[in-house]
Amino acid sequence: PPLCIQRYEFVIDFVKKNKPKKVVDLGCNDCTLLRKLKFHKEIELLAGLDIDSAVIRDNMYELAPIPTDYLQPGDRPLTIELYQGSVTERDPRTKGFDLVTSIELIEHLQFEDVDRFTEVVFDYMAPVAAIISTPNADFNPLLPGLTGFRHYDHKFEWTKVEFQTWALKVCREFGYEVAFTGVGQIPAQEESIGFCSQIGVFQIDRSGGDAPRLQNNVAEEHLPYRLLYNVVYPS
Ligand code: SAM
Repeated sequence: PPLCIQRYEFVIDFVKKNKPKKVVDLGCNDCTLLRKLKFHKEIELLAGLDIDSAVIRDNMYELAPIPTDYLQPGDRPLTIELYQGSVTERDPRTKGFDLVTSIELIEHLQFEDVDRFTEVVFDYMAPVAAIISTPNADFNPLLPGLTGFRHYDHKFEWTKVEFQTWALKVCREFGYEVAFTGVGQIPAQEESIGFCSQIGVFQIDRSGGDAPRLQNNVAEEHLPYRLLYNVVYPS
């Protein structure tokens, strides 16, 4: 299957195994992943955030309940919330989630915004788990005809070492553990290159008690994200 589908499948497998109740997808774009996740009955709150309000508005009604949702209501309420906003801003409505997903998003950020993204996700939102995917630049020479980045809007593409260096720093600073994996076929002879799309699966490390959080609570009433869509499914 295409790489984007493989990335969604990766998230879905994680959800099946770990059964998070609250999931937020950062850079949710046309809500494809959210549409797939809404069928997972353990999820009670499904949120999406994207800086592009038009792409959310064009697709958000596909998250509305369909007749079978009324005929066969779930055994728990499901709330879906879609926000327009930037991952560089802190909004209390994204705190306390079990899972944050950020699929092919960070490489669209200006390099200086990556640090803000890192703090927002791992210090402020502080989810139990996070799945972060990004292209693996080491793989690019294997992509036929590619010169430069894989997409015109990419601000950077990290090698395996660069991604892992960032991820391990996240773990040290914010009290997480990470496992590295990915999707996209590895050519038999070239396993050291790694996957086409590299993925870090972060889990909060509670072994030493809760890591101290640097966040300030002063701006707690400040809600920078704009709620564009909100629906509660019957239960
Ligand atoms: N996650 C989706 C997927 O895997 O198919 C979409 C990935 S798309 C390449 C990147 C998305 O990130 C776009 O929808 C873009 O609007 C969004 N985005 C870029 N910068 C953002 C920011 N600062 N805050 C939130 N979303 C952002």
